[in-house]
Amino acid sequence: GMSAQVIDGKAFAAKVRAQVADAVGKLKSEHDLVPGLAVVLVGEDPASQVYVRSKGKMTVEVGMKSVEHRLDVDTSEADLLSIIKSLNEDPTIHGILVQLPLPKHLNEDLVINSIDPAKDVDGFHISNVGLLGTGQKSMVPCTPLGCLMMLRDHHGSLSGMDAVVIGRSNIVGKPMAQLLLGDSCTVTIAHSRTKDLPDVVRRADIVVAAVGRPEMVPGDWIKPGATVIDVGINRLDAPEKGEGKTRLVGDVDYESASEVAGAITPVPGGVGPMTIACLLANTLTACCRANGLDEPE
Ligand code: NDP
Repeated sequence: GMSAQVIDGKAFAAKVRAQVADAVGKLKSEHDLVPGLAVVLVGEDPASQVYVRSKGKMTVEVGMKSVEHRLDVDTSEADLLSIIKSLNEDPTIHGILVQLPLPKHLNEDLVINSIDPAKDVDGFHISNVGLLGTGQKSMVPCTPLGCLMMLRDHHGSLSGMDAVVIGRSNIVGKPMAQLLLGDSCTVTIAHSRTKDLPDVVRRADIVVAAVGRPEMVPGDWIKPGATVIDVGINRLDAPEKGEGKTRLVGDVDYESASEVAGAITPVPGGVGPMTIACLLANTLTACCRANGLDEPE
């Protein structure tokens, strides 16, 4: 059958990181500035550890300073807040990321809102959420920003397109919807209470799936020619690869969806790499703003 164009997030992300590295080099040579990113990880969630390691590695690769705080799973809220306070006050740190989810005894909202909004490179502080919602200059959450960049790259203008976002989390679904609205899409946000989800999705020129359910969206929910952005990262057992082996799949059934869609992001190699590239871009932006310099595009 027909086959969708594959949107290569891995290659796009490499291009974005190269641009960031270039700008970091200029900051260093022209202004003697080195952007710094601090990542705070509480506890030993294995997926979070993988993300933090890979963020640290790529931060160094683009020439930035990388700081990691790995804290005990039973770290007190007071101790965590005091580490964030010292990072807020540290002039060599321009971006602060607290890896989510936090252990249950810590108040996630309180912790996130204790980050200096200017250093909130995840864009989760209420002040950045409000700025985004009102169309003002803010820090934009990395995963939705990466999705938007791929959509703009593929389509040029998104104006007037019907977009359906499946998922309404604060970290993906809601900010994704805000960004699409900002680009003049007609936006529908679907979630677990949505009626007739297949029909809702069938209306969409753009589908963003951010649910966390492996291969939930089949090809027959996709309008022919639509663009499909698969945010989901789900680990499934893969006994065919050997005992104890696993494989990653998205929230979209790639095989059937790629028969119908006009373009689609793979998992892995789609949204994931773009997320980290956008984190580095946000750190660069934060550093420029902190020093009154022109922002990179
Ligand atoms: P959440 O669990 O916070 O949110 C999931 C959303 O999906 C909720 O709004 C929920 O609805 C909705 N949902 C659940 N079941 C259904 C259903 N049957 N039909 C319709 N909607 C449903 O997840 P996140 O937003 O944090 O993450 C979503 C996915 O994206 C995960 O797989 C995660 O691993 C991945 N992810 C990937 C990133 C990347 O870099 N690529 C970064 C962040 C996340 P309700 O609100 O009603 O419960």
